[in-house]
Amino acid sequence: QELPLHVTVKIPTGTEYQQPTGLFINNEFVYPKQKRTFKVISPVNEEEITSVYEALPEDVDVAVEAAREAYKSWSVAHPSKRAAVLYKLAELVEKNATLLSEIETFDNGKSVSNSRGDVALTAAYFRSCAGWCDKIKGNLINTGEGYLNYTQRVPLVCGQIIPWNFPLAMLSWKLGPVLASGSTTVLKSAENTPLSALYIGKLLVEAGMPKGVVNIISGYGNPTGAAIASHPKLDKVAFTGSTAVGKLIMKAAAESNLKKVTLELGGKSPNIIFNDADVDATIQHLINAIFYNSGEVCCAGSRILIQSGVYDQVVAKFKAATEKIKLGDPFDPETFMGSQVSEVQLSKILSYIEAGKEQGAKLITGGKRCDKKGFFLQPTIFADVDNNMRIAKEEIFGPVVSVIKFETVEEAIELANNTEYGLAAAIHTLDINKAVHVSNNITAGTVWVNTYNDFDVMVPFGGFHSSGFGREMGEEVFQEYTQIKAVRMKINKPDS
Ligand code: NAD
Repeated sequence: QELPLHVTVKIPTGTEYQQPTGLFINNEFVYPKQKRTFKVISPVNEEEITSVYEALPEDVDVAVEAAREAYKSWSVAHPSKRAAVLYKLAELVEKNATLLSEIETFDNGKSVSNSRGDVALTAAYFRSCAGWCDKIKGNLINTGEGYLNYTQRVPLVCGQIIPWNFPLAMLSWKLGPVLASGSTTVLKSAENTPLSALYIGKLLVEAGMPKGVVNIISGYGNPTGAAIASHPKLDKVAFTGSTAVGKLIMKAAAESNLKKVTLELGGKSPNIIFNDADVDATIQHLINAIFYNSGEVCCAGSRILIQSGVYDQVVAKFKAATEKIKLGDPFDPETFMGSQVSEVQLSKILSYIEAGKEQGAKLITGGKRCDKKGFFLQPTIFADVDNNMRIAKEEIFGPVVSVIKFETVEEAIELANNTEYGLAAAIHTLDINKAVHVSNNITAGTVWVNTYNDFDVMVPFGGFHSSGFGREMGEEVFQEYTQIKAVRMKINKPDS
């Protein structure tokens, strides 16, 4: 029996809503050519929520065609027209905040308080992008008499591939600059979490977006994501996910049409506590850094570096605070940690916990799957970790943290930089000189001082080294969604 294009989904909170299941192309939910579907499993209760239709490469072609056609008018539309869509979209996200948070929690497993934060960020970012629409400008360049030179920022037809850890927030970081810059896109959600992205399709129509500007498809990395990365008719691919897949994306972009690439990849971010830190204030930042979103955060503070003078004190207080974390029913607004996203992800994290034990790290707390339905895992701390152990080198992408002791400022800098990644770092100290010195010497796209996982839509985010390149949010993102065209015009003096 054929899957309808909209199905009724019942969330454990009792909420019932109409979930789109088709491909969102040209402002409609449509069937893919082959009508293949895949199941969406909730990590909260391990049960099937629904199935959704799977886009295959031939459907990617249809979506790319829609984006190319829409580009013709959207790229030259008055900026106020684009701003109106973004303002309205922000409003609609807020209006649907409760439903969107529940969908996100049911699909991803994160606590509903985390989901509410994501929804708020999504609305805030769309609103911020609305304000950018009429500020994306070129330059007038004076090269002396006889010439008129100017640059234009030319929008792009994009492909975008997002991960499952922040389905809505990552979607907003991708769609905001597309809509603001006059670009168009085909966005593929992650196969684990396709639901909220499709729901946004509905809201885009309500917000008055012209057809084809944003197309949203569900599908697997291979072949659907791969078809985007290697598509000959896309000008750019933006990817957020693992470093391994990031490398494939770049290769596919190079081998197809040298499309522009931005990559937001993994990390192993250091969270440094100096002897002179305000220890009590720091503990909450340690918790937020690694256990927020069940540890499924690309910039998670997964290596805690503690100076020897406060090491024992910080470890003891961090352990006590961790053991008080409310873990479990993600729909309970008091819950801090929900479940991991999938069984595969849970097993991967558990295998890292085993590796930590085998390599001699000291398990301070946690380490076990919870004895209940759903993919729930205890927040886990390893102390006395050596920076060369696997748990300190490889991205775990779960609630597992490595605590490492250091003696001097220079040793902290060396340890912090001793990673293949460079997404984020944090410094906890009350000495401003130390904060600036260490910040200047850490190679990471974001350095937080006396805070963690602390975002603002005006502040750009992105990586160094194997954490990728390109920036999201802030003013910088618009460089990634436009191409510069220089016009140099010879001007002759008129005869009369
Ligand atoms: P992934 O990189 O495989 O998936 C991310 C997205 O890329 C998904 O939409 C997926 O469908 C797509 N994809 C996968 N293979 C592709 C390909 N060959 N071509 C094009 N697109 C492709 O991540 P995952 O397997 O879901 O998770 C594995 C690990 O990745 C995690 O354990 C974590 O370490 C890391 N990860 C990082 C982030 C981040 O924000 N940096 C997000 C999710 C996962």
